[in-house]
Amino acid sequence: MMITSIDKLTQGGCEREKKEKICRSRGGESCAFDGAMIVLQPIADTAHIVHGPIACCGNTWEGRGTLSKVRTYRDTPLHQMGFTTDMTEMDIIYGSEEKLYKAIIEVAEKIRPKAIFVYATCVSGLTGEDIESVCKKAEAELCIRVIPVNAPGFVGPKNLGNRIAGEVLLDYVIGTGNSPLSPLNLRGDKGGLINLIGEYNIAGDLWLVEPVLKDAGIRILSRITGDSTFEEITYAHRAKLNVVVCSRALINVAKEMEKRYGIPYIEVSFFGKTEMTKALRMIGASGKGQWARVGLEGKIESIITREERQLNEKLKSYSHLKGKKAVLYTGGVKSWSFISALLDLGIEIVAVGTKKSTFEDEEKMKEILGEDVPLVEDVTPKNLLRLLKERNADILVAGGRNQYLAIKEGFPFVDVNQERHIAYAGYEGLVNLAEQISNSIRFYAGHRSYMSNKTYFQSQEKSVAVNPLKHSQAIGAAIAFQGIDKALPVIHGAQGCTFLGKVLLTKHFREPIALQSTKLFTEDVVMGSDGNLIKTVNGIIEKNNPDVVGILTSGLSEVKGDDVKTAVSSQQSAISGQDKECILVHVSTPDYEGGLEIGYAKAVEALLGAILTCPLPPSSNQINVLAGSHLTPSDFTELREIIESFGLRPIILPDLSALDGSRQGFSALAAGGTDVEDIKRMPGSAFTLAIGASMELPAKLLNEKSGIEYSVFESLSGLRDVEIFMQMLAFLSANPVPDKYERQRRILIDGMRDAHFYFGSKKVCIALEPDLAIQTSRWIKEMGAEITLAVIPQNAESTGGILAKEVVVSDLFSIAGDFDLLISNSHAEDTAKRLDVPLYQTGFPVYKIIGNNSKTTIGYRGTLAMINETADIFLRKGERDGQI
Ligand code: SF4
Repeated sequence: MMITSIDKLTQGGCEREKKEKICRSRGGESCAFDGAMIVLQPIADTAHIVHGPIACCGNTWEGRGTLSKVRTYRDTPLHQMGFTTDMTEMDIIYGSEEKLYKAIIEVAEKIRPKAIFVYATCVSGLTGEDIESVCKKAEAELCIRVIPVNAPGFVGPKNLGNRIAGEVLLDYVIGTGNSPLSPLNLRGDKGGLINLIGEYNIAGDLWLVEPVLKDAGIRILSRITGDSTFEEITYAHRAKLNVVVCSRALINVAKEMEKRYGIPYIEVSFFGKTEMTKALRMIGASGKGQWARVGLEGKIESIITREERQLNEKLKSYSHLKGKKAVLYTGGVKSWSFISALLDLGIEIVAVGTKKSTFEDEEKMKEILGEDVPLVEDVTPKNLLRLLKERNADILVAGGRNQYLAIKEGFPFVDVNQERHIAYAGYEGLVNLAEQISNSIRFYAGHRSYMSNKTYFQSQEKSVAVNPLKHSQAIGAAIAFQGIDKALPVIHGAQGCTFLGKVLLTKHFREPIALQSTKLFTEDVVMGSDGNLIKTVNGIIEKNNPDVVGILTSGLSEVKGDDVKTAVSSQQSAISGQDKECILVHVSTPDYEGGLEIGYAKAVEALLGAILTCPLPPSSNQINVLAGSHLTPSDFTELREIIESFGLRPIILPDLSALDGSRQGFSALAAGGTDVEDIKRMPGSAFTLAIGASMELPAKLLNEKSGIEYSVFESLSGLRDVEIFMQMLAFLSANPVPDKYERQRRILIDGMRDAHFYFGSKKVCIALEPDLAIQTSRWIKEMGAEITLAVIPQNAESTGGILAKEVVVSDLFSIAGDFDLLISNSHAEDTAKRLDVPLYQTGFPVYKIIGNNSKTTIGYRGTLAMINETADIFLRKGERDGQI
């Protein structure tokens, strides 16, 4: 195993009293696997194959804002593509080294990357897959490097993974290539020659810094790793100076290069005027002897004068920011560099969250702000809110995960973490930061008054999933629990699954997401993890007082063989009889089988299994509605309104309507969904409507437990399907279809007539979860277009319901053909570009368009809206292609 010395990796950042800050995280961040990906994935001409079940790749894919000009596969930099072996249960039982080998060969042949990094994850690490041997074997076959990255999530947090990736670069890449520069150039006669270490070009940061460096006579030999090529890192040992940028995570690389190659290093930050100027001067001063010849320091000074003059001019428009107060919570080094940047703008720092900071970071903050720096260790959402209010802050400057906490409470917010889309580095970046802060403050000033103060089916056997469509069962189950009032799901596994899952769900729903982790580390994997589970559940009950705690297993806890079911049931007995009842719900959601839709349905079944008790006398107008994962939050509201308009009282399980943006205030628990007392009343309903084919299993369970008949509605979109649904409600309620819906029906028919010209003879490809694929295929077909290909992430019994010429279980990368439209999630943007077709974004995750959660896709109104949007896309495409 490559992780021979964790101690070595935890030096320089945690060897003093705060060792825990790198060696162990106290939650709120991702895992070592993700940390390694953060460092290596920006090398955009290399492929990054994740060897594990779907969660690891599925949750991280396109999760970071790193940018690259490198184009490797067609027009796509490879960091925008996901590659995973998508391990299944059979792979775990029989081993999957052969599958990994095939995956590497396939990726090398199809994508032609310059090198391949192969990542171990919790499950492949636990089952002892020998990825090093596989990489060696594949490398012998191919003409490129195949490099193992052994950082499974359970070995530690993100920081540790960053350092492991640094070791990988030292062991396999740096020092293995020759620079194309002439000896004279390499001597530094043409100016300073540096490596940038730890700059990932988030949102294009580097592109704001590099031109300034260039003007100042400083040349970058190797970027480690933002916007880099694999080759340039191989000759990084020829630089004259290592500049470690804003990240002690890769300090091990700089230290080791000093030892091995005699390259000195300095640590700088490029955020803010003060730090940028300081960085330039430090670089100039570091190469004194050799760089004096070219007068580097003089050049640097003149560039500083030029840039500062221009900056001061531009910042005049933001003088109103002076005196504003900010609460800052970001990771590690970024904290002190952003403190400096905010001070440059005249903003006062009233609190700094230090949960992710090292001892050195805190020392640096004290240097900048003095001993009285307002450091705060407790950065729970509750405490952050308290700080914002008590310290009268004007803005929260933090990572994207806190965005909706701030927004829900009506506080301006600026995202400064890895997921951001605006570059803040260099002089120009400070102007961007000022603009963002200013815009956010202005927006909320104007809105605070009304903001809350508060067929043919084919399953493709593949060794590698490229740009996977699939998501893990745990993600599906976590979504279902968001629809239960006062519930909190917990993923029993290493912390990365929860952190990354939460980021993904937040990105999609644009709302705070309730999700926690039992945070398993190596010793828990070896010794047993029941203790973590019990401690986490007790902590949640004590702190948050939930009605329901969902315990979702991960690939790690399942493969480890933990008897989670028994542990949950004994914990339930231990807590019963307390003042406030809390129901524990165990859901088995290993990510090596099933997918999002199945995990969601399993969670609904488990909720029914755990909460339903005895049968109740039937109530004639009460009905159960088991609503599938394919509905948008707005659809839940539409569904309720339709049913209630017939005089029926629906109990909708789960109810995700509160995720449409209507929720007020922040809560660590899911808020506004189905109440536990309502679930208890479900046995008294007259009938059950299962919305989506995957909801049939929970409906069956309800039938077995309470004898309630049910009917499955595979689609609530399209004229015919909505008519059938209306007829069913009319039958159940013994009331006629309300006039309102008769009118909406007429409007839909009229709209269909108007739009059908644009649909006729069009070829559509859909790539969606099965339930949504069925629903979508039905209304598209009704409009006269043809679904020539439907791609689904996993097989389902209902697959036959998809009205398509061909249905395959596959990934986005496999999609090929001649289409007029692609309907899929936001990950499919590159696929659409590759196919040169427009993309209609729907499903999960959707984060590249605004308003998805308030969009209605069912009923007459929802159908018409989708038809109009799609017709519009066809119209534009026709204009573009010169057909109209
Ligand atoms: S913690 Fe989760 S995401 Fe991280 S490696 Fe383990 S299984 Fe994968």
